[in-house]
Amino acid sequence: MTLELIIVPCLKDNYAWLIHEEATDTTAVVDVPEVAPILEALRTHGWRLSHILITHHHADHIGGVEALHEMTGARVIGAAQDAARLPPLTAPVAPGDRFPLGMQTVEVIDAPGHTIGHIAYYMAEAGLLFSGDSLMSWGCGRLFEGTPAQMFGTLARLSALPPETRVCSGHEYTEANGRFALSLEPGNPALLARMERIRALRAQGEPTLPVTLAEELQTNPFLRADDGLRRALGLPEGASALEIFTEARARKDSF
Ligand code: ZN
Ligand code: FE
Repeated sequence: MTLELIIVPCLKDNYAWLIHEEATDTTAVVDVPEVAPILEALRTHGWRLSHILITHHHADHIGGVEALHEMTGARVIGAAQDAARLPPLTAPVAPGDRFPLGMQTVEVIDAPGHTIGHIAYYMAEAGLLFSGDSLMSWGCGRLFEGTPAQMFGTLARLSALPPETRVCSGHEYTEANGRFALSLEPGNPALLARMERIRALRAQGEPTLPVTLAEELQTNPFLRADDGLRRALGLPEGASALEIFTEARARKDSF
């Protein structure tokens, strides 16, 4: 079944994602930073919004949810565990839940770390992961509420998905994230090659997302607790993968 995937730039550097299945007249948006660009994209394509999916409670992801729900009647899906600080949900979901989206199935994956109640949405058949501010292009979200161990667990779960999965996250942070990755490993050819592609896209004003999980596994310092990265961070031999992640995340905060 063919799905169309549209990236919608919002606010300064946020992305909303539109998923459309023609056969069932199903259109979902993942996160609603603001209403206008999403309405515009729906109008351009002639699509009727049926579902709103929320990854986490930050204002730059839910700011337009209530207004968009009122305008379209789309059902609002978000984490039951975070319902107290999300806009009113018509369909609260929990990690491990599966729900239909047209003919597709969406799996809810627990993704704490950036916030405690953060969830991700995975569509196995389409090979799409909507990761919000958990796993991000060339990086991961800042730890506002969760512990390093929680984000480490989140990234382990998400990065175990099939490598061809396309990762659709919430921000255009790739170039800044890449500068950090390169600061740790300035001579790494895979990182240099990726930065060249990213800069070319940005120079044309193009989004650098989605990205494949395979590319993230190869270049994202938060997914690669290997020896080269351990040495680059000045950690002793035998440092655990969690220790390597924790140190990398702390360095990024002050980069
Ligand atoms: Zn956030
Ligand atoms: Fe955000």
